[in-house]
Amino acid sequence: MTKLQDVLDEIAGEAAGASDRGVVAHYIPELAKVDPNQFGIAVALPDGEVLTAGDAATPFSIQSVSKVFTLSLALGKLGDSLWARVGREPSGNAFNSIVQLEQEKGRPRNPFINAGAIAVADLILSGHQPREAIGEIVRFIRYLADDDTIRIDERVARSETEHGDRNASLAHFMRAFGSIEHPVDHVLGVYFHQCAIAMTCHQLARAGLYLASQGQNPLTGAQVVPAQRARRINAIMLMCGHYDGSGEFAYRVGLPGKSGVGGGILAIAPGIASIAVWSPGLDLVGNSKLGTAALEQLTRQMGWSVFGA
Ligand code: GLU
Repeated sequence: MTKLQDVLDEIAGEAAGASDRGVVAHYIPELAKVDPNQFGIAVALPDGEVLTAGDAATPFSIQSVSKVFTLSLALGKLGDSLWARVGREPSGNAFNSIVQLEQEKGRPRNPFINAGAIAVADLILSGHQPREAIGEIVRFIRYLADDDTIRIDERVARSETEHGDRNASLAHFMRAFGSIEHPVDHVLGVYFHQCAIAMTCHQLARAGLYLASQGQNPLTGAQVVPAQRARRINAIMLMCGHYDGSGEFAYRVGLPGKSGVGGGILAIAPGIASIAVWSPGLDLVGNSKLGTAALEQLTRQMGWSVFGA
């Protein structure tokens, strides 16, 4: 694996010298404080080895990357009946768009746009108090990463709650259509806390390994989701994981991936690796600028694109 380590070191070296790093998310004030001059990458392999470069041990706000894990959790509880509440088509719209929601009568296009993830949070809440649902999500992610130190950054959760009018609008809108069952403040409480989970690239790469290993976590041997479900989650990541930049990401990187406005991306090379990259500066559609460039370089040099060389 020396070639892989060399490639990671080269990527991190180039990122350290990059002048155009994108812009950190400003609409969540706590995220606006993050130093944009950071970059980390970690690659977890099915044998448990994790190779890293740069700031791979620095925790960051995983934001929408959490939506992959809450989708996995909710599918485990509800099975395919989840799809009655949320679609699985690319949106072609911004992550927080409300326009499509009106046209499609409150059924979000997919589980990775904000509206879709809020609907999934509502499903996870069933039979629980918000605190229990949040605890269940954190425990699930700790179990995936095999790491009990993973925590919620309460300052980020508070910051999102205080500035979450847009997400509150989406949630109220869906509730008006009957697409959300629980009180909006409960659903948003769960959603904001899942987004505020802080993880390092090292932890995130390990947590995503089940998607690279036919649903099985090779660290623990546990079958997290059936193999067919892992394949389907990867398909949704490929088509919908980068909002209205999903086509561009597939074109440049060629892997299923999910981004977050904290600047993290989880990308899956099925059968090969789970990759986490983080750099806080975002491009115009809200995806990590250097993170995307790093994944493009990694897949090219390692020949890991699902579409071949
Ligand atoms: N918590 C963010 C929001 O709701 C998530 C968006 C993202 O990471 O893309 O706006």
